[in-house]
Amino acid sequence: MRVEHAQNAATEDIPRFVRSNIIASMQPWLFFNGPSQQTVYKKYLDINTPLAFGSDAAITDFNPLLGIYAAVAGADAMTVEQAVRAYTIGSAYAEFQEKMKGTIEAGKLADFVLIDRDIFKMPPSEIKSAKVAATFVDGVQVYASK
Ligand SMILES: [Zn+2]
Repeated sequence: MRVEHAQNAATEDIPRFVRSNIIASMQPWLFFNGPSQQTVYKKYLDINTPLAFGSDAAITDFNPLLGIYAAVAGADAMTVEQAVRAYTIGSAYAEFQEKMKGTIEAGKLADFVLIDRDIFKMPPSEIKSAKVAATFVDGVQVYASK
């Protein structure tokens, strides 16, 4: 089971997710309040709650780089690696697809993007300006930036 928009759960209810093995599904860009925001992502991570991140498009932007930026900006934020994991293996787990996608390894789908810079080594404020340089679906390049 999972709860969508779990960033809106009451703080005292966060431990209930782990107790009941419920995935906390959240949309960081949709609920982004600016770089000084207080987020709950780390509160979930600190007690090992399974996280799944998404966009909630089409009511907000599809771009997961905006969501990663929103997840790592602000006080008490999570790391870029934690945000990327929530967007990849976390979301795959939330849809029972973790054996097919979510990580790059033999036997899984080869659906992935290349980003034009290393988001793990840049200031969080710059992540939102990173761009997808190429997209691969089933191991075949289907998009290249110009
Ligand atoms: Zn929604």
